[in-house]
Amino acid sequence: MQWRVGVVYFLQGQRDGVIYHQNDGYFYHKHHDLDRPDNPFITLRCIKRKSLTSPCWGLAVMSRDGSHFECTRHHTHPPDVWNIEERFLRQSLINAVSSGDPQPFSVIIRNVGMRGGFSFEARSRLTLARMRTALTDERMRLLPPIPNTLFELATYLNDPLFANVTPTIDNTDNIFAGACGDFGAGTFSVVFMSRRQATHLANAIVIFADGTFKKKPKKPRCGQMFVISYVWYNEQTTCKHIVTCARILMQCRTTEAYIELLQYLRAILPGWNPQTIMADHELAQVHAWMHVFPNANITTCLFHFEVVSHLPVSAVYSTADKIVY
Ligand SMILES: [Zn+2]
Repeated sequence: MQWRVGVVYFLQGQRDGVIYHQNDGYFYHKHHDLDRPDNPFITLRCIKRKSLTSPCWGLAVMSRDGSHFECTRHHTHPPDVWNIEERFLRQSLINAVSSGDPQPFSVIIRNVGMRGGFSFEARSRLTLARMRTALTDERMRLLPPIPNTLFELATYLNDPLFANVTPTIDNTDNIFAGACGDFGAGTFSVVFMSRRQATHLANAIVIFADGTFKKKPKKPRCGQMFVISYVWYNEQTTCKHIVTCARILMQCRTTEAYIELLQYLRAILPGWNPQTIMADHELAQVHAWMHVFPNANITTCLFHFEVVSHLPVSAVYSTADKIVY
């Protein structure tokens, strides 16, 4: 980060290029307006010249070969002896975030500052409030743009460049299982299911399926989030757990879209053969289950029957199922 030529030290600055100094606590940028190739000397300006609170008009000249350096106009502030360490700490924080550290910024700032052996003075300058924007920018560089459509979402998630987006918390699995359907025909779906969830679902005999709208994202636009869960009996603890096996963002809720999705799930889950399927009173979904698993026993739940029982039958079964996003 820092190198020396003759009596001058060079530092790579954040925005304004190279910073020149003599290790005395005063730092300079090149005065580009006065830089002429035929002049053997370069004019330098104090880096605090644009400070809103106390602008400094300090100047220096240095020879092009770095053998001579002289301050030619006094500074209006005391030397800043912690500046270089602060820059190192700042770069270390940015490196930690760009390496994919998923922890909150406050934890990263504390860990890097303490473990790196940085002084209290340097650490006290780089607070969360001061670093949040720079660290957020760095973290956003690792993420794809926000997709407008489910097709874009699937394209980004299939890109190995963004493999860091969908790992599980323990970093041993990935929750993106794939996409299916035809976006042009309105039957596109993006499936989120880790390999462990897939193992659970493949062995599930009784499954519960339901769509939810509260959790669906505003972007990319989609019809619903379709959730498949089952009750897992843990033999070791003799407890029952409700395990969510798959969350699927569906473009729309037509029978064709459901059939495409269920056939895709059956293809990636060898041996998946649920005997009982508990669904809500959504006709498109029930038809799709019957189409893909003709031998399964399909039941609908009392709660959803209560929810829809005050609506006209046509409103429940037909109109909502044909909305395409
Ligand atoms: Zn100055």
